Amino acid sequence: MHTPFLCIFSKQNRYLYYKDIAMLRHFYTCMLFTVILAVVLFTSCTSRTITGKSADTYVIMLSIDGFRWDYAERVETPGLDYIALNGVRAKHLEPVFPTKTFPNHYSIATGLYPDNHGIVDNNFYCPELDATYRLGDMSSIINADFYGGEPIWVTAEKQDITTASYFWVGSEAPIKGIRPTYWKSYDVTVPFEDRIDKVISWLELPSDKRPQLITLYFNEPDRSGHNYGPEHPAIDSIVKYLDSLVGDLINRLNKFPSQYNINLIVTSDHGMTEITPERYVDMTGYVDRNWFERTHGGNPLLNLQPKEEYTDTIYNILKTVENISVWKRDEIPARFNYGNNPRVMDMIVLADSTWSVGWGEPTGSYYTGGSHGWDSEMKDMQTIFYAIGPAFKENHVHPPFNVVDIYPLIVYILDLEVAEVNGKLENIIDMLK
Ligand code: AMP
Ligand code: ZN
Ligand code: ZN
Repeated sequence: MHTPFLCIFSKQNRYLYYKDIAMLRHFYTCMLFTVILAVVLFTSCTSRTITGKSADTYVIMLSIDGFRWDYAERVETPGLDYIALNGVRAKHLEPVFPTKTFPNHYSIATGLYPDNHGIVDNNFYCPELDATYRLGDMSSIINADFYGGEPIWVTAEKQDITTASYFWVGSEAPIKGIRPTYWKSYDVTVPFEDRIDKVISWLELPSDKRPQLITLYFNEPDRSGHNYGPEHPAIDSIVKYLDSLVGDLINRLNKFPSQYNINLIVTSDHGMTEITPERYVDMTGYVDRNWFERTHGGNPLLNLQPKEEYTDTIYNILKTVENISVWKRDEIPARFNYGNNPRVMDMIVLADSTWSVGWGEPTGSYYTGGSHGWDSEMKDMQTIFYAIGPAFKENHVHPPFNVVDIYPLIVYILDLEVAEVNGKLENIIDMLK
């Protein structure tokens, strides 16, 4: 619940509250008249209306997986253009490392870097649990023990805000014992149109059952990007189709009465780059797999746990190999924000931009078409952020920011109280009215 003091803050002051609660508390204890004012306001401040964020404020967040920052520049995208004109568009959105689906979606949800939330890759070994987390393994995906931090829906539910999810990494696990009130088991076959229908029907529920925060996920254009590569004309078609779905969603949201303060965020988790078996480093040409206790991950990032006696040999050999970088965990450059979590192994290998790395011949489709996972500063890994609604400025182009900044953004719009996270409200405050 909010403290009564919060209710008399202006928007700017609320921001300061978020940033420096101690300073503001001190300020208010020094202001005797505030106590009197707070008592007067106390009875009327139990709802959100005083701060302008009524119980009728909604956030719908759609992630369209693997939507590279520049896809919308290649074809006509009237849906996204509508948002840019009447809302906000970021120049690009920076993912976290590794630029994979699970770490990034969970960073969006928690405002934390993977080191701090624990989903350090799509697949990883967890020493505390002596268990492996795997993207395709439902039993690990629904196991709350893997998930650190606090996803935004948990933050909201704890503060009596009803939430819903038509898929999001983490939403199927009872993290801190809490799932969204309405949630779905991941099923890639559900048509995107049906997912949108459900979101709309959730918003049509009676007010005491209606979710104020809804997450929605589409697994395209990631799938096509992997299959065809990001430059293929198939990407143009899928981007047009996805954009038409965004347009439909906007039209249907626009039909709700204006007292519904609906804010729509359309974002994604990473970009995509072209790969080919000709740009491939085969680890077996340099090191013996038996020299490792464990290896995990997948192109372009390998997590390696060498047997102790082989550590230096492996490291010295891999240092000489072109088109990859090898780091012991304590050497990983600081800007990756990666390596402090015990789930990151003692050594990592990362292929250079557009290069691939793996064990054995680059057979099958895995090393052709497109992929992602590289350095989060690589241009092709950048992704998108669009937002529209009463909380957002109009026709505002925002400088690039990081996926971890989305959590504080939603927290702000829904007026929630939170612990500090890696994301910073100051990075996105200028996009808000
Ligand atoms: P990536 O290998 O990083 O491209 O991962 C993308 C894959 O993650 C897609 O095949 C999706 O179907 C899958 N995926 C996305 N969200 C979920 C989820 N909540 N549960 C299970 N799988 C998911
Ligand atoms: Zn993805
Ligand atoms: Zn992908």
